[in-house]
Amino acid sequence: MTELAQTPIVVAVDGPAGSGKSSVSKATARRLGWAYLDTGAAYRALSWYVVQRRLDPTDSAAVIDALPDFDYRIGTDPSGEDPAETGVFVGDHDVTDAIREPDVTAVVSAIARVPEVRAYLTQLFRDIVRRSGKPGVVVEGRDITTVVFPDAPVRILLTADESVRIARRSAELIGHSAAHVGEALLRRDAADSRVVDFMNAADGVTTVDSTDLDFDQTVDAVIQVVQKETHV
Ligand code: C5P
Repeated sequence: MTELAQTPIVVAVDGPAGSGKSSVSKATARRLGWAYLDTGAAYRALSWYVVQRRLDPTDSAAVIDALPDFDYRIGTDPSGEDPAETGVFVGDHDVTDAIREPDVTAVVSAIARVPEVRAYLTQLFRDIVRRSGKPGVVVEGRDITTVVFPDAPVRILLTADESVRIARRSAELIGHSAAHVGEALLRRDAADSRVVDFMNAADGVTTVDSTDLDFDQTVDAVIQVVQKETHV
């Protein structure tokens, strides 16, 4: 990856689980020819690593101790053509699929609430963006508009009604009951929102509500905000 002299333009996208922020952010990056960074993947990969090492995810000191050995790599190419450029890796392990498994998802909130973990990963995200080699990066997560890139020229909160979010997530997780998926999603949002507020737009953040929009319409709405704020 080449490092551009200029810092890339950051499009910061936050939102709750099932709001569609990953797929919408990725499609937005693809349309703009920019990079895409999924920050939740790092919290998930660290959770995977903690589970692998048989550490207690609720033992903050043990999780903090594991950080220096957490050898994390993520591709930022939104095209999905080359697995090495789109996958998620911990050391030699390709954890792209494993980090989406419910056993990892179940412990991620406990890990994400540790301030030292957040500070460590925030620094990592800023480094990845700086080295993206693209004119812009769409970065999505929970605290991107408020903590990771509070000065980004484009800051968006992507929301959708609860029932729509549960239905979308159920469609992704084949073989799991809608009731179970809904319960897990609401539990995770409740735990996560005790740490960062991603349900309400901070000052200067534009809300895009995708409840009544299909996928392409949501991407169009996000691109419109990007164009308005950056004139790209
Ligand atoms: O976005 P995703 O659902 O993959 O995020 C997984 C988890 O990572 C969230 O439930 C949350 O605990 C954590 N997270 C976070 N801050 C971010 C991104 C994700 O705390 N910026």
